[in-house]
Amino acid sequence: MINVTKTYLPPFEEYTTMLKRAWDNVWITNNGELVKELEQKLKEYLGLQHLLFCNNGTIVLQMALKALNITGEVITTPFSYVATTNAILWEGCTPVFVDIDQNTFCIDPSKIEAAITPNTQAIMATHVYGLACDVVAIEQIALKHNLKVIYDAAHAFGCVVNGKSLLSYGDISTCSFHATKLFHSGEGGCIVVNDDDLAHRLLLYRQFGHIGDDYFSLGINGKNSEFHAAMGLCMIGKVDDIIENRKERVKWYNEKLDFSNVTRPEIPKMDKYNYAYYPIVLETEDMLLKVRQALQEQGIIPRRYFFPSLNKLPFVANAAACPISENIAQRVLALPLYYDLSVDDIEKITGIINSEVND
Ligand SMILES: *Cc1c(COP(=O)(O)O)cnc(C)c1O
Repeated sequence: MINVTKTYLPPFEEYTTMLKRAWDNVWITNNGELVKELEQKLKEYLGLQHLLFCNNGTIVLQMALKALNITGEVITTPFSYVATTNAILWEGCTPVFVDIDQNTFCIDPSKIEAAITPNTQAIMATHVYGLACDVVAIEQIALKHNLKVIYDAAHAFGCVVNGKSLLSYGDISTCSFHATKLFHSGEGGCIVVNDDDLAHRLLLYRQFGHIGDDYFSLGINGKNSEFHAAMGLCMIGKVDDIIENRKERVKWYNEKLDFSNVTRPEIPKMDKYNYAYYPIVLETEDMLLKVRQALQEQGIIPRRYFFPSLNKLPFVANAAACPISENIAQRVLALPLYYDLSVDDIEKITGIINSEVND
C-alpha cells in the first residue's frame, strides 16, 4: 500500500540510546532533560527566542487564544485542518471565515478588513501546506485595527520568509509535531512567541498555572514527555535531509504529471520552502472521485486535504460563504509524499492520474 504519508522513523537503536538517558535519570516527564535539550536545539535550528515544546499542535492553538485573552470573533481561514476551527470554538470564541487566495490557498488579506467588526479580536491564519501567508499585509491590518495575530504553522516547520523562520511571525505561532508532520516527535507541538512576558504566561499555562507550591494563573496540561522529546531529538538532525528528499520527490511529480487538466497552488516568495505536501487540484469533484477511485484500486491512498471547507462544518453556525475555498476543497487531493517513496511509485501514481484525467 502507498499511503498519503508514512512516518519517518530513526533507527531503533538511536531511539533507545536516547531513551536510556531518561531511564538513567528516572525522569520521564515534567520538563525533563530531554525536553529542555529538544527546546534548545529547536530554537537554534529555527533561530527563535522562545519556544515551548507541548503535547500536540491543537492544545497550543487553545493556549494561544487564552494567553492573548481572545473571547470574541476570530478571523480565520476556511482552508486548513479542522483543528484550527476547533480550537477557536473550543475556547468559546466565534470563527469568522474569510476566503482564501486563489493561488496560495492561504487567507486573502484583501478580504480581511470587510470582515472586521467591533467584536473582532484576532486573526488566526494557517500557512497551509507550508505556503506562507502574506505575513506583511496581515501584520499591517492587525496593527491598524489593534488585532492579535496567531499563525497555525503546523505545516511550516523549516520554512523561511524574509530571512526568518515562518514560525517567528505573528504574536504567536504554533506548530504540530504529530507523526505525520515533516518534523515529528510522535505526538507533540510547540508554541513560539517573541515577547518575554507572554512566554512566561505560556510556560505557566503548560503546567497547570503553578511553579512548585506557588499558584499564579489558570493553566492546563500542555506538557510533553521524555519519550516524545527523545523522538524529536533523534529527528532534528535529519530535517534538512528530509526536506531535500521531499524536494526531489516534488520535482519528480512535477516532471511526470500532465498539467493540462491539473493545477497546483503557487509557492509564494519564500527564502526556503519545506515541500511538506503535494496537493493537486482536479477540474471537478467528479474527476477527483474518479482519480481517487482509480488510485485506491491500485492500493494508493491519497487524502482529501482539506475537505470540507471549514465554513461548511456541520457544527459551525452562520458562517459566511467562501466560494474559492469551497470550490478548491471539493477538487483538491494530497498525493503520497514521504521519504522512501520511490521514483517507480511516483511513475505509477502519475501514470494513473494522467490516464484518468485525459480519459
Ligand atoms: C496537524 C494539524 C494540527 C493539529 O496538530 P496535532 O498535533 O495533531 O494536534 C493543527 N493544524 C493544522 C493545520 C494541522 O495540519
